[in-house]
Amino acid sequence: MKTTLTGAETSADVAVVGAGPAGLYAAYCAGFRGLSSVLVDALPEPGGQLAALYPEKTIHDVAGHVAVRGRELTDELVAQAAPFAPRYLLGRTAASLTPDGRSGWVIGLEDGGRVRAGAVVIAAGLGRSTPRTLPCLRPYEGRGVAYHVPRLEAHRDRDVVVVGGGDSAVDWALALAPIARSVTVVHRRPSFRAHEHGVRRMYASDVRVLTDAQVTACEGVDRLEAVRVRTGGGELTLPARAVVAALGFITHPGPLADWGLRLENRQIAVDRAMRTNLPRVYAVGDICGYEGRVPLISVGFGEAATAVNHAAVELRPGSRLAPEHSTDREAALLS
Ligand code: FAD
Repeated sequence: MKTTLTGAETSADVAVVGAGPAGLYAAYCAGFRGLSSVLVDALPEPGGQLAALYPEKTIHDVAGHVAVRGRELTDELVAQAAPFAPRYLLGRTAASLTPDGRSGWVIGLEDGGRVRAGAVVIAAGLGRSTPRTLPCLRPYEGRGVAYHVPRLEAHRDRDVVVVGGGDSAVDWALALAPIARSVTVVHRRPSFRAHEHGVRRMYASDVRVLTDAQVTACEGVDRLEAVRVRTGGGELTLPARAVVAALGFITHPGPLADWGLRLENRQIAVDRAMRTNLPRVYAVGDICGYEGRVPLISVGFGEAATAVNHAAVELRPGSRLAPEHSTDREAALLS
C-alpha cells in the first residue's frame, strides 16, 4: 500500500475522500479506466465503518458473497484496487477544497498536506462520528471501556458488559458469547429495538440480559474491574474487564460542510451521474443523498462506478462512458 508523508503534496487524476467501501471501490474503478487515484481517510486504516465499527460481524447482503466479515470485505476491496496502485493518505483529514486553475481541485489536509486532482469523489460516509456514551463510562475509556470491538479475541475468557438495545449491542453480545467468560447486556428500556431474530437468538443463548437497567458506575483502580447496575429490583455489581458501549454515534459532515457543496438533510445532493453542484466533484456512498437512496454497501458500489466513469469522460473528453467489460480485459491480458 503506497502512502505519502505528512505535509507533502501529491497529485492524481482522481482524489477520493474516504476509504470506506464506496471510496475503495471508486479507486478500483478509477484504475480500471486508466486513471491514477489518491485516497484520503481520517482513520488509520481503510474500510470505513466496516473496519472501524464491525470488522468481525458477518455481512450477508453484498452481491456475490453469501457471508463476509467486515474485515474480509475490506481486505478484498484493497486487494482488488491494488494492481492500480492507488496512493493511501491514512490518518489524514481532508479539510478544504479549492479550485486549482481552470479544471482541477486542491484538497487541503488538516496537517498541511495538499492533494491536487482533476476530479474529486467524496465518499465520506457518515463524516465525522463521535460515540454516544454515559458520563460514568468516560473515565474508563481505553482502560476497559470501548465503543466497538476491533478484535473479538481480545475478550477471550473475560467478563464483558454490553450496553445498549440496538442491533450493534445484540450483535456484539452474540459474537462475544462463545469467546468471553460471561456476557451481560444492560439495556435501559423493557424491549429491544434490534431485529427480532437477533433478540430471539440472544435470549436463547448464554447471554445474560438485564432490561430496565442502567450502568451507574465503573469500578477498578488502574483499569476496569466491575460495573454497578441499577435495576428495578435494586443495585447489583457485575465483574467486568470490558464494557462495550453500543449506544450509537453522533455524526456530522465535519469540514465538508464548508466546501460549498449543496447539502440536503446533512447529505450531499447529487444528480443521477453522482455529480454535486461543483464541477468534477462527485459524491457517493452514505454521504450522498437523493430521493429513495438506500444506505447499503452494494448501493455505494454502484454509485462509485457511476461517478468514476462520468469523471473519466470529463477528464478524457471523447472517451466512452461505459467502461470495457472486465472480462474483455482478462481476455486481452491472457492473449
Ligand atoms: P463509510 O464506511 O462511512 O466510510 C467513510 C470514510 O470516510 C470513513 O473511513 C471516514 O473516516 C472517512 N472520512 C469522512 N470524512 C473525512 C474527511 N473529511 N477526511 C478524511 N476522511 C474522511 N450495510 C450493508 O450493506 N449491509 C450490512 O449488513 C450492514 N451492516 C452494518 C452494521 C453496522 C453495525 C453498521 C454501523 C453499518 C452497517 N451497514 C451495512 C452500513 C454500511 O457499513 C455503510 O452503508 C457503508 O459503510 C457506507 O460506506 P461508505 O464508503 O459510504 O462510508
